[in-house]
Amino acid sequence: MSAGAPASPPARAASIAAAASVAAAWQAAVQNGLGRIDAQALLAHVLGLPVERARAWLLAHDTDPLPAAAAARYAELAGRRAHGEPLAYLVGEKEFFGLRLAVSPAVLVPRPDTETLVDWALELARPWPIPRLADLGTGSGAIALALRQALPAADVCAVDISEAALAVARLNGERLGLPVRWLHGSWWQAFAGQPEARFDLVVSNPPYIAEDDPHLPALRHEPRGALTAGPRGLDDLAQIVAGAPAHLEEGGWLLMEHGHEQAAAVQQLLGEAGFRSIATRHDLAGRPRCTGGRRR
Ligand code: GLN
Repeated sequence: MSAGAPASPPARAASIAAAASVAAAWQAAVQNGLGRIDAQALLAHVLGLPVERARAWLLAHDTDPLPAAAAARYAELAGRRAHGEPLAYLVGEKEFFGLRLAVSPAVLVPRPDTETLVDWALELARPWPIPRLADLGTGSGAIALALRQALPAADVCAVDISEAALAVARLNGERLGLPVRWLHGSWWQAFAGQPEARFDLVVSNPPYIAEDDPHLPALRHEPRGALTAGPRGLDDLAQIVAGAPAHLEEGGWLLMEHGHEQAAAVQQLLGEAGFRSIATRHDLAGRPRCTGGRRR
């Protein structure tokens, strides 16, 4: 960005609240340690710009005055971002698999790593004319909605134990016009009383971080219940594997995301439960991230 801001003292001040123009707000935020992309996204957000047009607009409108209300809101959000709140919560949305999803602190922010799980699921589900799919622990609905979007004939069911998360997922389904059956419950218990609920493919990105993992403080803004699962992070993965045979068709698949050091443990869980064709796939960073198998 060019230095098109008036060189008056308030605009130059490090305080973002005092910024008089788009450029000054931008510069002050970057000086205060906010990343460029984040500063841009937050400015676009307070100005009500569509994210995809934000960069070009901001370049062209560098010297525009920043309305006081937008400047104040921007200052607040930039401060929260600097203290580690995920950008997605501050702007209220996140893109996943080409879908723009509403997110709130009730749900985990969808990660690009999870696109590995969706890619794999789509490869497996495509041959079925009407695949019956389930997403356990759906959060924002990201995986279920990505599958439903790519497979319009699929019957997709999604489960979460958190009513607040389901409200976000439902909203996303409505906004995107993607019908998914949203069910409340803990993993397979959501299907208690429905022994006929059987699927061709079940996917899950459950909590899988160990309770004492040193990375947890960095994730403090996200729901703890969506992140941790017992001393080794394996408790929920084990529950999902244990309940799967009763709800998978013969030849049906179970695919789960996990921590990059958990592939062997998840393979073992699947093997002990009688799954075959057990395999692991890697995320964009090349780390083992998803493991799955097929019901005999
Ligand atoms: N992938 C997330 C992280 O490590 C954790 C998600 C999860 O526990 N399912 O930040």
